[in-house]
Amino acid sequence: MIPYNMSKPELKSEEKTKTDYDDHDDPRSDKQKDKIKAVALLSGGLDSQLAVRMMKEQGIEVEAVAIKTPFCDFDCGKGCGHKVLEVATELDINLKTVYLGKEYLTMLKNPKYGYGSGMNPCIDCRMMMYEEAKKHMEKIGASFVITGEVLHQRPMSQNSNALSIIEKNTDMEGKVLRPLSAKLMTPTKVESKGIINRSLLGSIRGRSRRGQLDLATKYGVMDPPNSAGGCLLTDPQFSKRVRDLFEHEASEPSLNDVDLLKIGRHFRLDSYSKLVVGRNHAENEMLLSYCEEMDYLIQPISIPGPVSILRFSIKPDMRKHKKLLERSIKITLRYSDTVQDCFYEVRIVNKKRNWTKLVSSQRCDNKEVELFRI
Ligand code: SF4
Repeated sequence: MIPYNMSKPELKSEEKTKTDYDDHDDPRSDKQKDKIKAVALLSGGLDSQLAVRMMKEQGIEVEAVAIKTPFCDFDCGKGCGHKVLEVATELDINLKTVYLGKEYLTMLKNPKYGYGSGMNPCIDCRMMMYEEAKKHMEKIGASFVITGEVLHQRPMSQNSNALSIIEKNTDMEGKVLRPLSAKLMTPTKVESKGIINRSLLGSIRGRSRRGQLDLATKYGVMDPPNSAGGCLLTDPQFSKRVRDLFEHEASEPSLNDVDLLKIGRHFRLDSYSKLVVGRNHAENEMLLSYCEEMDYLIQPISIPGPVSILRFSIKPDMRKHKKLLERSIKITLRYSDTVQDCFYEVRIVNKKRNWTKLVSSQRCDNKEVELFRI
């Protein structure tokens, strides 16, 4: 590892190595370049892969860390094109994936720097990501971390103040290089020492993708992925569900609770109970697999209809319990192949109590449904 304070090597003119940096001279010796490593926070989107390409172009050896949280999947099918494994393979770099599960939920419940427009705790979230990159940096003896962050691309976490808070809190001041916007920022240590040629770095700012697309063309990136458009936590509707979960969950929500947030129609029946109704066959299958011992699984059997889960956050009061179950059945039937005022048969299963019950019920009307919808 090359220490930051290593002085710029004096090279005799005949020793200077011409690189493919157009007409710039690289101040480093080949020996130095061999040893310089960086850790990239790789998302699989365009920006972070461009950051890696820019570093590789400068002869830096890059390894990547990809972070997965309960609110993002690398291949979640949300259209963000985040295929991080494919990207790492294409870039020919080692990839370490880190899953932030329970600890992410704990942070999300009470983020030190608050939320953005939705339930996105971007500053705290980035701090956790930087921590993981830092750990890997120290482990492999890398000199710095690179990210695909672009100044002012995201309002909460990509302004100078937020970036500086994130660096300070993770003890990474001067050690995070953002190649796409570096020329607009205070030079990092590797730039100041001439280890990285600052003149080759970018000055991209804001939400326009023009600069990134030009770089993608330069590096021959075929089919550059679209802008990710933010994570689930920036989605207003999804944020409503997350907020509802935190407001009503007696203890810490589980990862299963979070998985449940991503599918179905959600209804808050009272402070301690929630109903989730599948919207299609795939969601019905998922609900069957997410169903826990304490849950009530509701399924119409005489007509086509969804799978629903009635979940309590505390042990239910048995007097209220019957009423909630009846309401859940009626809501489930509202989304089944039913008509008003007719009765349909529904099966209810509760593994904990080890019982299965068949009941006959009517559907509720649209007004009633809207009263409970989250
Ligand atoms: S948009 Fe989501 S993943 Fe990105 S920093 Fe914010 S909370 Fe984290």
